[in-house]
Amino acid sequence: MEPGHTLPILGQGFVRYIDHLGSDLRIVESARISYKSPSKGIEQDKKLLIYLYKNRHTSPFEQCSITYNIKMPIFIMRQFVRHRTFRLNEWSGRYSELADEFYLPTRWRAADAKNKQGSQVSDSLDHPALTREVKACHDSAYATYQSLLQKGVARELARMVLPVSIFTEVYVNCDLHNLIHFLQLREDDHAQQEIREMAAAMRVVAEKLYPWTFEAFHKYRLGVTDQSPSA
Ligand SMILES: Cc1cc2nc3c(=O)[nH]c(=O)nc-3n(C[C@H](O)[C@H](O)[C@H](O)COP(=O)(O)OP(=O)(O)OC[C@H]3O[C@@H](n4cnc5c(N)ncnc54)[C@H](O)[C@@H]3O)c2cc1C
Repeated sequence: MEPGHTLPILGQGFVRYIDHLGSDLRIVESARISYKSPSKGIEQDKKLLIYLYKNRHTSPFEQCSITYNIKMPIFIMRQFVRHRTFRLNEWSGRYSELADEFYLPTRWRAADAKNKQGSQVSDSLDHPALTREVKACHDSAYATYQSLLQKGVARELARMVLPVSIFTEVYVNCDLHNLIHFLQLREDDHAQQEIREMAAAMRVVAEKLYPWTFEAFHKYRLGVTDQSPSA
């Protein structure tokens, strides 16, 4: 995968591959240090990797990491930063003026009647009217932001009038073990649709870089609290 490869998400957002460390073979190599045993060929290497994944020998997967550049709305960033092992740097609204870029869903969702956490696209909602209403809110907030800046208010204070739908940008580096943990939590049905879309794009990048690992991920797809399968 070429550095700079970019997957669009959430309207004006994106997940961009910057670079990465290691490979499926690095995972196997680091695991083999336990016995100081050399590789017994590619087939055995792949078998070992699948064994490691299935039996939650997770530390060799931490030998690999990916750096992404991600553009997402601030309300999704709030969920993203809960993943404490991710190392990130964010665009600063103190040091530069934030762009007039806000997230608008293509279809509005209503609260799910059964699942408190969930939501679903509903025909009972007037989608064009909701989009107009929220767009007007964005325009008005951004106009106030500009007006405060023009009156000499510091960027760090003027930004307080901006909605959490405004886009922010990060550079983030995550190791493969914790990326998989993140994907298990954030591609799950219980997670918000917007972060699921972002997680899926991050996975698409990772799948190209570590194909054996993701073969195991799709095959065993262990939930966060699941035990290793006995067979
Ligand atoms: C569907 C969903 C709904 C959620 N709703 C809410 C909500 O309403 N309110 C809310 O506040 N949060 C909410 N969260 C966030 C959730 O509680 C976790 O903070 C978030 O998912 C990160 O999970 P984590 O701690 O396992 O992962 P990470 O922070 O990525 O950490 C990965 C793993 O590293 C280990 N680890 C990292 N740091 C520490 C540490 N300091 N001590 C011990 N172990 C550590 C743990 O094993 C952890 O599982 C929600 C998450 C999801 C997926």
